[in-house]
Amino acid sequence: MKALVYHGRGDIRCDTVPDPKIEDGRDAIIKVTACAICGSDLHLMGGFVPEMKSGDVLGHECMGEVVEVGRENKRLKVGDRVVIPFCLACGECRMCKMELYSCCERSNRNAKDQAKALGYGVAGALGYSHLTGGYAGGQAEYVRIPFADFGAFIVPEGYSDEQVLFLSDIFPTGYMAAENCDIKKGQTIAVFGCGPVGLFAIMSAFVLGAGRVIAIDSVPERMALARKLGAEVIDFKDGSVHDQVLALTQGEGPDAVIEAVGMESTGSETTMQRVASAVHSAVSASDRPYALNDAILCCRPGGIVSVPGVYIGASVPTAMGSFMNKGLTMKTGQTHVHKYMDLLMRLIEEGKVDPTVIISHRTADLGDGPDLYKTFRAKEDGCVKVVLFPHGTSAAKSAGPRRARQAACLTGIMLHTRPERYRISGRRQLGSLLYWCGSTNYSAQIVLFWAEFRNARANQRRCRGSLPAAEGNRHGRQTGGPTRPRQISRSSARRPPRGV
Ligand code: NAD
Ligand code: ZN
Ligand code: ZN
Repeated sequence: MKALVYHGRGDIRCDTVPDPKIEDGRDAIIKVTACAICGSDLHLMGGFVPEMKSGDVLGHECMGEVVEVGRENKRLKVGDRVVIPFCLACGECRMCKMELYSCCERSNRNAKDQAKALGYGVAGALGYSHLTGGYAGGQAEYVRIPFADFGAFIVPEGYSDEQVLFLSDIFPTGYMAAENCDIKKGQTIAVFGCGPVGLFAIMSAFVLGAGRVIAIDSVPERMALARKLGAEVIDFKDGSVHDQVLALTQGEGPDAVIEAVGMESTGSETTMQRVASAVHSAVSASDRPYALNDAILCCRPGGIVSVPGVYIGASVPTAMGSFMNKGLTMKTGQTHVHKYMDLLMRLIEEGKVDPTVIISHRTADLGDGPDLYKTFRAKEDGCVKVVLFPHGTSAAKSAGPRRARQAACLTGIMLHTRPERYRISGRRQLGSLLYWCGSTNYSAQIVLFWAEFRNARANQRRCRGSLPAAEGNRHGRQTGGPTRPRQISRSSARRPPRGV
C-alpha cells in the first residue's frame, strides 16, 4: 500500500510499504478514506521529537472504513465508518477510568523508555515516534488501530468525512484547551496561534461562553479566519504582544490564555534569542518558548494558562517569575480525545461548529503529501489545513442532511416504481433503481433525480396521444424515458478539488 513515510529531518516521502495486519484481538484494520496533516506532524518533520526512525509511517488524524476486525473486537464490524482518536487507550486502566485517556497506562508498548524522559510513560499514539509506541500512522491507504474496540468512534449516518475527521484530534484539542480555561460567561480569552488548533480553540471558547476572544498570529489567511470566527486579531509582528493585548483589555489582561503554538514558536523573540535559535537549529531542534512566555506575561493575575501546544524538552526556559508572582494556574496535556467525541459530534449535528471552515487544501493523491507537508510548514499558498483522501473518495460521501437524502431516494424509488407512466423498460428501470439506492453521493443523486425528472416530463409530453407505455414496451418499441441521461463517474463526482 501507499503511505507517507519519515526518512529523516525534513525528508518525507510517499512510499510503498507492507499492508498492516491484525496483531491483537482488539485491533481493527481501517481503509483510510481521509487523513490530515497536523501541526504536531511538523514537530516530527522538524526533528524536534526523538525516537523517530527512517521508514516510520506518519499520521495520527485519520478515519475510514473497517475492513477487518480482531477476534475479541465485538464492537466493530466490517463496513463501519469510524474516526480514530490520535491517542490510543485501553479503556480499562487506572488513567482510562479517570477519563485521562492520553495517559493510558497500557497502550504505549515503549512506556518504559518514555518514563525515563517524562517520569511516567503516557499513552501510545498513531504515527508519533517510538516513544509513543512506534505504531504505524494513518497517512496511508490502510492502518492498524490498536484498542479499536474502545477507541474507534462510529460516525452517525449523513455526515461527510470532512465534517467529522477532526474529531480525531484538533477539534477535541481546541475544545479541551478552552474547557481548561474554566470560562465564565462574558470573559475574555486570548488565543496564541491561529493554526487549526487555535481556530478550534476560538470556536470552542465562544461555545463555552467567552464574551471576547483575542487571537494572536502573523499569517494573514489564518488571522482572517480568526476574525471571521469572531475574534479580535493581533499581529505579533506589530510590536510587543503584551502591549497590544493590554491595550485591548484596558490594561487588565485576559482572564485566561490559550497557547496553541507549541515548541516551534517564532516572531516575538529578541534578537539574541533568534541568533541562539538559529545556531541551535543548525545542529538540532529544541523547544522555543516565545509564545508560551508571551501568553504567561499577558494573562491577568490569578488567571489560567491553558497549553495545548506541544513541548518535548526537559528544560524549556519558561517565564516562571511572572507565572509564580501573578499566581497563575497552568492546565495542559495531550488531549483526552475519547472523552469529547460524542459531545463534539453533537455540536456538529446542531450546526454550532462547522469544522470544514479550516480546510484549505485537499488532495485525492497521497503522492502529493510530501509537497503539502512543505506547503503547510511554510504556511504558503494560504495553507491552513491539509486533508488527504488516500482512496480518492471525497467529502461528498454521505454528505448532506440525512432527511434530504432520504427524500431524494424515496422520490427516485417512486419514480421508478411507475414505469408505465414514464415508459422505461424493466431492465433499465432495475439498473437505474439499483444505482439510485446504491449511491451515497448526495449531489450525484440530486443531479440524477433532476435529470431523470426533466427527461420523464419531456417524454410524457412527447408521448401524449401515442401508444400506452406498457404496449410500446411490449412491442419492443423504445419510446424514450427516464434513462440515466448523464453518467456521473463516481470517482470524478467524488474527487475533491485541489486547493480552495
Ligand atoms: P500550526 O503550526 O499550523 O499553527 C501554529 C500557529 O502559531 C501558526 O499559525 C504560527 O504562525 C503561529 N505562531 C508561531 N509563533 C507564534 C507566536 N510567537 N505567537 C503567536 N502565534 C505564533 O499548528 P496547529 O496544528 O495549529 O497546532 C498547534 C500546536 O498544538 C502544535 O504545537 C501542535 O503540536 C499542538 N497540538 C497539540 C495537541 C494536544 O493533544 N495537546 C493536539 C494537536 C496539536
Ligand atoms: Zn494532530
Ligand atoms: Zn488505559
